[in-house]
Amino acid sequence: MAHPKSRISKQRKRKRRTHYKIEAPHVVSCRNCGNPVQRHRICDACGNYRGRTIINKVEQVEEDFDTIDDVQVEE
Ligand SMILES: [Zn+2]
Repeated sequence: MAHPKSRISKQRKRKRRTHYKIEAPHVVSCRNCGNPVQRHRICDACGNYRGRTIINKVEQVEEDFDTIDDVQVEE
């Protein structure tokens, strides 16, 4: 098996690890609705990606309203 030739000191190890850090996610505004979106991801508000509708959010909202109407009918 691969084996380290020599021990790496605490200082050298810690200096190497100073470059390990969390970066803030890259956020851009949606081309369609202007909602803040992470790059290369579908917009959560309108369901668009690169100018095309991937998830039809309007239909989903209509479906939700149908279920709410069903609840009101039971009263
Ligand atoms: Zn959008």
